[in-house]
Amino acid sequence: MLYQRSSQLFAEAEKVIPGGVNSPVRAFKSVGGTPIFVKQAKGAYLYDEDGNRLIDYINSWGPMILGHAYEPVVEAVTEKAKLGTSFGMPTELETQIAALAVSMVPNIDKIRFVNSGTEACMSAVRLARGFTKRDKIIKFAGCYHGHSDSFLIQAGSGAMTFGTPNSPGVTAGTAKDTLLAKYNDLENVKSLIQANPNEIAAIIVEPVAGNMGCVPPIKGFLEGLRQLCSENGILLIFDEVMTGFRLAKGGAQELLKIDADIVCFGKVIGGGLPVGAFAAREEIMNYLAPLGPVYQAGTLSGNPLAMAAGKAMLESLNNDVAIFQRLEEKTAYLEAGIHRVLKANNIVYTINRVGSMISVHFDASPVVDFQTAAKGDNDTFKKFFHGLLKEGIYIAPSAYETWFITDALSYEDLDFTINAIDTVSKTL
Ligand SMILES: *Cc1c(COP(=O)(O)O)cnc(C)c1O
Repeated sequence: MLYQRSSQLFAEAEKVIPGGVNSPVRAFKSVGGTPIFVKQAKGAYLYDEDGNRLIDYINSWGPMILGHAYEPVVEAVTEKAKLGTSFGMPTELETQIAALAVSMVPNIDKIRFVNSGTEACMSAVRLARGFTKRDKIIKFAGCYHGHSDSFLIQAGSGAMTFGTPNSPGVTAGTAKDTLLAKYNDLENVKSLIQANPNEIAAIIVEPVAGNMGCVPPIKGFLEGLRQLCSENGILLIFDEVMTGFRLAKGGAQELLKIDADIVCFGKVIGGGLPVGAFAAREEIMNYLAPLGPVYQAGTLSGNPLAMAAGKAMLESLNNDVAIFQRLEEKTAYLEAGIHRVLKANNIVYTINRVGSMISVHFDASPVVDFQTAAKGDNDTFKKFFHGLLKEGIYIAPSAYETWFITDALSYEDLDFTINAIDTVSKTL
């Protein structure tokens, strides 16, 4: 495959955009090489500026669960655009998508739409703080909740008490209110709660972690968090930006049968347009302005194009009774195939999967948290990534990302992919 035009376009982009990209992971920093510039996409395939076709396992990092340029979404957006693209006034469409989302997701009465997953998580935490009148939150190492200050906190030796800033620009004042815990480690959470009595507003968690590869919650972890939250007046925030409308109609809450207090959405809910949302029972949501004291706003929130895309996407998922079963079966088929060829080629690996989220780790031990995810062999991953690219398969340019399976993938595509992995494995 040739990347001549992509290389040229990247060089031009670097002159006027920091690092040539508008979101860092797109830059191929951890795998090396030049990012691929996309020209267009349809169904399961990307077509780049050099005319290469790639089978896509990222799907815009999750949103395109039914494939690229999905007809009902394209049609909804095109039709809406003709009627005006933004008003800053209420529209009937916002109520329609809100009602639909509330009907699909368990345990929520009201929902507010924003423009990204970052905004959703940031606003959910502010709401939790306002509601509980407490300042601190607990987050888990390796979980990503967008790039707002409170979430860019890494583990240090002092993590049991105070977080330390992870990115320059995050103040120590902000960092001290974010306590860091180990994913899947309930005892760790208990000790943080004991050390900070009546100070913790919320625990925010990815119910199935997807930003350190796919890391499922171990049995009892989320149940334990639910119980700890209820016992200590803490709100449980499920960040379902990745899992929402992907693992089930009602997301991880439905699949795992656990009720969160506040739920955050993004990715699939926008059908490929910039949308996020957060939702909760009425008592909590009524704390938001203009009803309540917690301020939150957005010039383009509830934008008609974004709502039209989101509504078309949610309707398609809601009306297709077999969709989540189909995604499960396709991903299980892929998983079994990858097991078969990696084993046959004596590769050291672990595969994690929940529903249509799957990740391949180049380490033999189970991946259950950030530490174990970070153990994966990055050099092997780089070769794997570039090898697959040569075969016409696009996975995330980072060893710590989940692959997102789309319904547009055919079994032929999956077989092609498994064969390609077999070929590449022989070169690792
Ligand atoms: C992608 C993601 C976010 C951030 O969403 P953006 O739309 O990129 O701001 C937050 N939480 C989780 C779990 C995500 O996967």
